[in-house]
Amino acid sequence: MNEQKSPKKTLLYYVILCAVLILAFNAFIIPSINRHRIKETNYSFFLDQIEDGAVEQVQIKDDTILFKITDENGISRIYSTGKMDDPDLVSRLHDSNKDIEFTQSIEESSPITSLLISWVLPTVFLIVLWNLLMRGMSKRMSGMTNSMSFGKSNAKIYVKAQTGKTFADVAGQDEAKEALEEIVDFLHNPDKYAEIGANLPKGALLVGPPGTGKTLLAQAVAGEASVPFFSISGSEFVEMFVGMGAAKVRDLFKQANEKAPCIVFIDEIDTIGKKRDGNLGGNDEREQTLNQLLTEMDGFDGKKGVVILAATNRPESLDPALLRPGRFDRRIPVELPDLPGREAILRVHSEKIKTDGNIDYNAVARSTAGASGAELANIINEAALRAVRNKRDKVIQSDLEESVEVVIAGYQRKNAVISQHEKEIIAYHEIGHALVAAKQKNSAPVHKITIVPRTSGALGYTMQVDEGEKVLMSREEAMARLATLTGGRSAEELVFNTCTSGASNDIEQATKLARAMVTRYGMSKNFDMTALETVSNQYLGGDSTLACSSDTAAKVDEEVVSLVKSAHEKAVSILSENIGKLHELSSYLLEKETITGEEFMNILNGTAVTAK
Ligand code: ADP
Ligand code: MG
Ligand code: ZN
Repeated sequence: MNEQKSPKKTLLYYVILCAVLILAFNAFIIPSINRHRIKETNYSFFLDQIEDGAVEQVQIKDDTILFKITDENGISRIYSTGKMDDPDLVSRLHDSNKDIEFTQSIEESSPITSLLISWVLPTVFLIVLWNLLMRGMSKRMSGMTNSMSFGKSNAKIYVKAQTGKTFADVAGQDEAKEALEEIVDFLHNPDKYAEIGANLPKGALLVGPPGTGKTLLAQAVAGEASVPFFSISGSEFVEMFVGMGAAKVRDLFKQANEKAPCIVFIDEIDTIGKKRDGNLGGNDEREQTLNQLLTEMDGFDGKKGVVILAATNRPESLDPALLRPGRFDRRIPVELPDLPGREAILRVHSEKIKTDGNIDYNAVARSTAGASGAELANIINEAALRAVRNKRDKVIQSDLEESVEVVIAGYQRKNAVISQHEKEIIAYHEIGHALVAAKQKNSAPVHKITIVPRTSGALGYTMQVDEGEKVLMSREEAMARLATLTGGRSAEELVFNTCTSGASNDIEQATKLARAMVTRYGMSKNFDMTALETVSNQYLGGDSTLACSSDTAAKVDEEVVSLVKSAHEKAVSILSENIGKLHELSSYLLEKETITGEEFMNILNGTAVTAK
């Protein structure tokens, strides 16, 4: 550090340099500029001008004479000429032009402008240059040395008033809230816990799929605990220069220790907390940052009251060292909301909008199985937008129902051109799904069928809504679901004796389900309870990797095909048994474009007469 010039000394050098520069500027550059402005002439030209009475101003210097003339075009110019021994020059000048002005400085610029140009402007310019230089330098230096004042963490400090979020804003997620409430309580009454000898958990890790409210929960903790709250995102630690991230971690914990009791929240911790691997050429910066984090978490005293919260949706990728007790003692799952959870989230968000008094949130919640909190919030907002579009001042049930579909399948494509024949195929396809679903006892009731195309590319769809929440899926239900998925294509085959590309999404889903049945749910005859695939990314899409020999993989494929095939056959047989209803329902759907589950069941059970 000794060889490093201190910034003060550098500044001194810089000031001296600047002074020299400005002096040089004044001594050489300004005169040369002036020289160009002044035209040299001979003495006889000067005498001619005096005779014409054209000279307006004159300055007599030691060895030169400067004089100013304005020509016919109104442009004035300064000339200079050598000085001659001419005793009555002054009186001649005076005679030639009564208004002639004898002056000390003929240069036009006022003293203020000349001061500005020769001193102030260069100084300002050089100061600006200094700042730019210093900034560039500090960036470079902080890459090399992480002490000094560089490498400050830019954690935002939240205090109670600022996030404005409380636990009341987080609907559902009761277990997560309970665990966090305990931490808040500890920060408020540490004595209560100290009496028994309980230690405050040092850290809690919130894990769950995206949009389930992890960040929201952390903000609510900040709102509830009236202690300082440091919030930083994992990506903010990642810098271009090795060592910067570690410096930031150090700084963050230093600040936190000063402010204890307090809460530190690291969002998306997987950016810095990834497993370290022995690979050469690994990411040095990230590993240093992680090592620093591990050290800091060990370093501080648990009794002091610094609690670390972190959130991630990729817990499996975190370094095991980070997860051991003593660092993140507690793992708080923040899962996708269940039925009551979804209803509660819908209610929380609908408080922010104007609604019609009698909205059935339960029905909306039932039709959104698998939706995250963020998606539900989005559904409410879409509903409000739709109400405005339809010039209403309140959101009504149909807004919500439509916005569920918008979020699932995109907006309606009102002016899509679809020929009558294709529309017919689509209608049969959808009724095929619905009919197969309705004729099996292990499948969810049909809620709505529509053949209005959507921007997502769906040409129509059949919505099934379960009565309650399901956490398990039996083999029978899985088979019924497979048959329902193949029902659309089966109807096309039966009625039109052809097949179309419209079933591609059904095929995809059916294959995925059948595959999971074989490889993960142990629902096939041949493989019994062996796991043939492992899910690597539980919260993000659930990609799975094959964990078996290629021989077995080939057999798995066979099994999958046979499952789908038997479901397809079942669907065809159900439809051919009910071919009359298939025709009746399809023509009704073709006419109405959208029908409810109730209308569907009425026709199916023959309790209502169709419009025709
Ligand atoms: P993530 O888990 O990905 O960090 P967020 O906490 O950022 O998700 O949630 C995004 C948004 O979703 C929140 O701002 C909130 O509007 C909504 N949200 C998610 N979960 C809930 C919940 N349980 N209660 C209320 N709103 C929620
Ligand atoms: Mg988040
Ligand atoms: Zn289909």
